[in-house]
Amino acid sequence: MSIQKLLEPYLIEVSDVKKMEGYDSDNYFLTDQQNKRYVLKHYTDPTEYPNIKAEIDILIILSKKVNFKIPTSLPNVAGDYIHRYSDNSFSRLIEYIDGQVLSETEESQPLLNSLGQRIAQLDLALKGLKNPAIQARRGSWDLQYCLINEPKLKHIQAASLRKLVNYIYDKYRSEVLPLLPELRHSIIHGDLDYLNILAVKNEVVGFIDFNDLSYTPLVNELAIALAYVMLEKSDPIGTAEAVIRGYHDIYPLERSEIELLPQLIPVRWATNVCNTAEARFKGGHLEHKLIHEKKVQNILQRWFIFNPVEIQNRFLTAAGFKPNDYQAQRTTVLKTRRKTTSPALGLTYESPLYIHSAAFQYMYDYDGNTYLDARNNIPQVGHSHPKVSEAISRQVRMLNTNTRYLYDSMAAYSEKLLDHFPDKLCRIFYVNSGSAASDLAIRLARTFTARSGQLVLENGYHGNTKIGIDISSYKFDGKGGQGPAAFVTKLPLPKIFQGEFDNGEDFAQQALGIINNIEETPAAFIAEPISGGGGQVPLAPGYLKTIKPELERNKILTIIDEVQTGFGRLGQYFWGFEMHGIEPDIVILGKPMGNGQPIAAVVTTTEISEAFDNGIEFFSSFGGNSVSTAAALAVLAVLEEEALPDNAQHIGEYIKEKLKFMAVDHSAIGDIRGTGLFLGVEFIDPETNSPATKLTAQVKKRLKDNFILVGSDGPANNVLKIKPPLCFNQGNADELCSTLQKILKEQNA
Ligand code: PMP
Repeated sequence: MSIQKLLEPYLIEVSDVKKMEGYDSDNYFLTDQQNKRYVLKHYTDPTEYPNIKAEIDILIILSKKVNFKIPTSLPNVAGDYIHRYSDNSFSRLIEYIDGQVLSETEESQPLLNSLGQRIAQLDLALKGLKNPAIQARRGSWDLQYCLINEPKLKHIQAASLRKLVNYIYDKYRSEVLPLLPELRHSIIHGDLDYLNILAVKNEVVGFIDFNDLSYTPLVNELAIALAYVMLEKSDPIGTAEAVIRGYHDIYPLERSEIELLPQLIPVRWATNVCNTAEARFKGGHLEHKLIHEKKVQNILQRWFIFNPVEIQNRFLTAAGFKPNDYQAQRTTVLKTRRKTTSPALGLTYESPLYIHSAAFQYMYDYDGNTYLDARNNIPQVGHSHPKVSEAISRQVRMLNTNTRYLYDSMAAYSEKLLDHFPDKLCRIFYVNSGSAASDLAIRLARTFTARSGQLVLENGYHGNTKIGIDISSYKFDGKGGQGPAAFVTKLPLPKIFQGEFDNGEDFAQQALGIINNIEETPAAFIAEPISGGGGQVPLAPGYLKTIKPELERNKILTIIDEVQTGFGRLGQYFWGFEMHGIEPDIVILGKPMGNGQPIAAVVTTTEISEAFDNGIEFFSSFGGNSVSTAAALAVLAVLEEEALPDNAQHIGEYIKEKLKFMAVDHSAIGDIRGTGLFLGVEFIDPETNSPATKLTAQVKKRLKDNFILVGSDGPANNVLKIKPPLCFNQGNADELCSTLQKILKEQNA
């Protein structure tokens, strides 16, 4: 329809017409003889009529209540605010509002305060209004319906971004959704993007685009406005505080509403990412959808650095509420722990961390601190990974049973797990801890060989069962240990740094010399590919390759303990034994297998597994249950989807390079070793070459003071262990290395 035809029903004398951008209507920018400006919106979709009618109804009510600018609708000759044409299309005429949008205004605290106040005034004016068309809306941008966006996750190309969005929705489902009925509901503007907010100097003077009016929890209004105003800010939390303060002064928020803001704000970003991804996938008119794309991605990447307890408390304080104080709770938890458990159950750090929650490579304590986790190798794909959480919760609601029954998750997992092994390793026994796995591995070896002797490596650790301790030099040689059991023969750890030999072959010959002197041929040899207890020591190259054929010749089984090293941690080697070029007879799996859900396994050959079937049934109540295998299945899927082994390889190399560079100036760094994200830094006294145990403890403590968690180990406890979740990124690596360097300088090391 021509613009002349469109304008016929309106009482204005237009002197100039310009077509404007618009996506749900054709928009025209009009100027009349008196230089007054208007926008004519022409809608060709007749089903939009009730929505536009509702918007105009609300705007007319608002215009009588507020003293700031909102769009003013002008009637046609018949006095109607919507004109219907004979082709069923319709139009509306709005006075053009002058003014800069918020993003073009220089930001200041008074401006942010004014923003909060104006939003509150708007919401007060909307308070109590009812409108059936608005109340019937189920918009994908309305935070309360955010979960309808979940199917769009598949359109998000970058797996690293997809998981963040998934996490945000996952949290929303579990922590916000159940509380919705308790919240105050109201009609809200629903799209206080800063592009819809007008400002002059330090004052917000109006709002435009009431297209997204929705009936929803009142606090969503503020959450949405904050989501936009926080973009690209160096201190997004501080920015939000100023707005919250302003809002609360005019329209007091309830404590429960403020407490939900840290969960609600990122939901808007998540929705933005989903809708943008879907728009890209569908093609068509994209521009308006992509306006915030980069900015939203940037803040999402940063968001996880903020501690949720801290954000909540800062928001509460901004509104004059007392922040939540967890000191008493902490004291009780610590007291209860001391009262109810054995002191043998150690806590790390003099002042133990009281953890509230964790996400991916970050851990959040109740004091409001965020710790970069460079220590935990159990949450392999990251703490609270939504895919794993989802898999667990879906399965636990459906069926959690044991291996005495047939169920899908175990079959599916077994197939997928064995895909990662050489053909001969094709039988799995499921248990629920690394200890149970090593214990079972020893039983398998004993049954198969009808012998009981065991070869172990110095400093090895394999588990906490009786057999586990018996075969773990780390324990039987350590504090309180009682030396090796009669059936155990200890072999030297083939360690290159400060070792007896500089190659694996010589270590192997030394070991074979010892083995040949044992009276009764042992049943098995057990080793980790990189010894954690030894201080992240990769077995000297060539050691296993040399020793294995000799063991085979003597029918001694080789058991490789992959509890720490398995599942892609070593980057290019999915299993540590691959790095040594051997195929073991038995492999022990654990820790990362279920990302924290208790599942472990022994993988072996058909012959060994069949020999074990001697009448004594093997059963583990929890081993391989349907929930654990569902979790483990999700772990394998995430490792692949997010290419985490590649990341481990790449980031591991990056860290090692940085450490080598650092070692030039810091002679206390004696050795840097390991593969992928299973690294060790050995500290020595450069004068004497002796272990720098105290320095190591100090470095570990100072890293914690700087909010970075690492482990320490080795017989002299002088090795820093770096083994973070595999999503550890380059920024994390930079932070770890620069902080370490700062600490070494401070220690004159
Ligand atoms: N083997 C190795 C190499 C380990 O590091 C551990 C645990 N630290 C175990 C076995 C025992 O596993 P879990 O603690 O699950 O019993």
